[in-house]
Amino acid sequence: MDINLLQKTLDDFNQPKFRFNQILKNYFKGIFGSFDSMTDLPKQLREYLDKNLSLYSVKQNKVVSDQYTQKALLELKDGQKIETVLMDYDDWLTVCVSSQVGCPMNCSFCATGKMGLKRNLTAEEIVDQVLFWNNVLFKRHCEEQSDEAIPYVGRVVVMGMGEPFLNWDNLIEALQIINSPEGLNLGARKISVSTSGIADKIIDFANLDTQINLAVSLHSANQKTRESIMPVAKMFSLDELKKACEIYTQKTNRQIFFEYALMKGINDSPKDIDLVSEFIGSNKLFYLNLIPLNPVKDGMEPSSEQKFKEFESELTRRRMPFSVRRSFGQELNAACGQLVIQNNI
Ligand code: SF4
Repeated sequence: MDINLLQKTLDDFNQPKFRFNQILKNYFKGIFGSFDSMTDLPKQLREYLDKNLSLYSVKQNKVVSDQYTQKALLELKDGQKIETVLMDYDDWLTVCVSSQVGCPMNCSFCATGKMGLKRNLTAEEIVDQVLFWNNVLFKRHCEEQSDEAIPYVGRVVVMGMGEPFLNWDNLIEALQIINSPEGLNLGARKISVSTSGIADKIIDFANLDTQINLAVSLHSANQKTRESIMPVAKMFSLDELKKACEIYTQKTNRQIFFEYALMKGINDSPKDIDLVSEFIGSNKLFYLNLIPLNPVKDGMEPSSEQKFKEFESELTRRRMPFSVRRSFGQELNAACGQLVIQNNI
């Protein structure tokens, strides 16, 4: 919801001051589908609000699901579309949100990158992806007439479509709303942001002095290879990226998670193991996440299972701090790097 517009709409309708906070509280609960369902408001006001303001800035176009993952295609007010994913395989329901319509970074293994950038998302469009899922969960809970507690999103990862650090102001505003007790009230440690490696913004992020988690898509510790699969490496070299990450860990004393998707013949050789081990080096706060590549149409192939195991055992032998991240949602094209607007999701 456009919070500034809410204030103006209430002023236009001569409402007392307390209405603003009352409506915001209702909105952040995520259980209301429209203003009309907020029965703690006078009927006339509900009608006026529904006529003059949208409760959510995103509208469901389509939802598909498999055992652990649901992917929604959402329509924005200007007709643009984005995707968001709900994952239910851990202690917490996790939502992956998009930060841009498309993405300008053009990573060669990523479906979103092939779309190019359409536009940045506003802070409300980022926040409303989380509220959208809370609303879906609430409606399902009511349909099932369940006696259990109402489920809600417990973790947010900004890893969907887009490079979040290139939409800095709106990203930071959205994170503040998601984290704030007056907003979605999610603990900072339950929120993660992933960047392709915008080094100067990693330093800005460190200066925010927040507990929000940071992940960096590394995918190769060889400058040439990284440039060939992630054009961002031409803007910020591996040395600059590493330096920024070191400043981050010194400043925040928090871990950085480096994502490394194994791609057949690209980044899975013994030499690549040497380079990535060197990159992680002795920084105790650098942590590697090894992930199987999620295949996209006309894209790169994942490394074979055998190669993956070899890579994994060599990292273990070298006592590197790493883990293997499971990847869900491939059947829905909802896994990392697979989000792209298709006519048929
Ligand atoms: S991997 Fe991330 S940064 Fe790279 S093109 Fe895809 S969405 Fe953009």
